[in-house]
Amino acid sequence: MSIKLLKQALNGQKSLTPMWRQHPLKERYDVVIIGGGIHGLACAYYLVKNHGLTDVAVLEKRYIGAGGSGRNTTIIRSNYLTPEGILFYDESVKLYEELSEALDFNVMFSQRGHLTLAHTDASLRTMRWRAEVNQLQGVNSIVIYPDDIKKLVPFMDVSDHLRYPVLGALYHPPGGVIRHDAVVWGYARGADQRGVHLHQTTEVTGIDVENNRVVGVQTNRGRIKTGVVLNATAGWCSLIAAMAGVKLPVETRPLQASVTEPLKPFLDTVVVSGTLHFYLSQSDRGELVMGASVDPFTSYAQDSTLSFVEGLAAHVLELFPSLANVRLLRQWAGLCDMTPDYSPIMGFTPVEGFLVDVGWGTYGFKAGPVSGKRMAELIATNRTPDLIAPFSYDRFFQGRLVGEKGAASVGH
Ligand SMILES: Cc1cc2nc3c(=O)[nH]c(=O)nc-3n(C[C@H](O)[C@H](O)[C@H](O)COP(=O)(O)OP(=O)(O)OC[C@H]3O[C@@H](n4cnc5c(N)ncnc54)[C@H](O)[C@@H]3O)c2cc1C
Repeated sequence: MSIKLLKQALNGQKSLTPMWRQHPLKERYDVVIIGGGIHGLACAYYLVKNHGLTDVAVLEKRYIGAGGSGRNTTIIRSNYLTPEGILFYDESVKLYEELSEALDFNVMFSQRGHLTLAHTDASLRTMRWRAEVNQLQGVNSIVIYPDDIKKLVPFMDVSDHLRYPVLGALYHPPGGVIRHDAVVWGYARGADQRGVHLHQTTEVTGIDVENNRVVGVQTNRGRIKTGVVLNATAGWCSLIAAMAGVKLPVETRPLQASVTEPLKPFLDTVVVSGTLHFYLSQSDRGELVMGASVDPFTSYAQDSTLSFVEGLAAHVLELFPSLANVRLLRQWAGLCDMTPDYSPIMGFTPVEGFLVDVGWGTYGFKAGPVSGKRMAELIATNRTPDLIAPFSYDRFFQGRLVGEKGAASVGH
């Protein structure tokens, strides 16, 4: 590997093999996927790999990974609140564990453990509840207390003189972080190698529906005929759904994050505080990756703000005062497609052939492998797999919400 890299460095760009190819836009595809993020790409990959469907196009208006998939803070975990959510995300963690080998591409999955702190009796009760439900589903989560937390995170202040002292934490050893770009590029390369056409700078501008059935899509490069369209556009999903005449119960909100300058390694778990509205992990490069909950307004602007970093820094310093002189390196924002119950929407819609894989809010990166695999199964068999049946579009009309707010609002 290193000799290959050295040769490439000496030869410049000439010897580099592109990760995926460019193709002319065909007049017709069996399946058109809108959105070149992890969800669209993973679905394309599993459509070919597991079901042999090769006549598939992924249409991306900007570049592969331009959306939330290239902007997230890479937390992977399955310690959710509902049995439906836990089983679903657990399959994703298992797929992630094998992903480097499956894609022949190092996705750098680091299962370093994930701590969700409890600062009040009420949140400690929720942590105990989550631990119980997790264990019943076979997922490794336990509640631990300040002495053990201190052993895992020696630099954190767990004393009892804080404004919000740490009373305990939900500890989830399989949780961790990953290299998000590698995951996205690995799926894109895997799909391309198997015959999927990836079309960047190809914006969907309309969806053709006849007699309540999808017959094609309009793009800035021309029309494409197809009988199956998958909407995998996250923050933009309600705009795409409206093109097909489908109304989604989704609000788009910005989510911001930031990183510090690199520091020597000192933090080898992910730390989340719902009460203080921040989370923190240390990247392989030593930068502290930090974030909070979504901005309190709807917007399609991906702008980061000073008030966000000021609030974030103040809260981080409450628990990590020794970081006071560390400098921020950069900050950014992405769009999140929030549903009322903080669970995704996957599957069929009232328009035949128009499918959705949306509502990924602040937590969808970890779900990419499982939703890609299960949505591919749905497309290939025209049946909803049991694992994703609870997340159907019609749950909102039948009053079957899958409430995950208590496990998904800050922890991502
Ligand atoms: C700051 C931040 C931190 C986050 N942290 C985490 C985390 O730690 N863990 C976690 O699990 N999740 C996290 N998330 C959420 C996660 O990033 C998203 O849920 C996930 O990436 C969604 O993936 P996707 O493939 O559905 O959508 P995206 O990656 O957003 O891809 C959608 C694509 O659709 C394209 N598109 C839009 N409109 C059109 C059109 N008209 N035509 C063609 N293409 C179009 C966009 O350009 C975009 O590339 C975070 C998000 C943000 C913003």
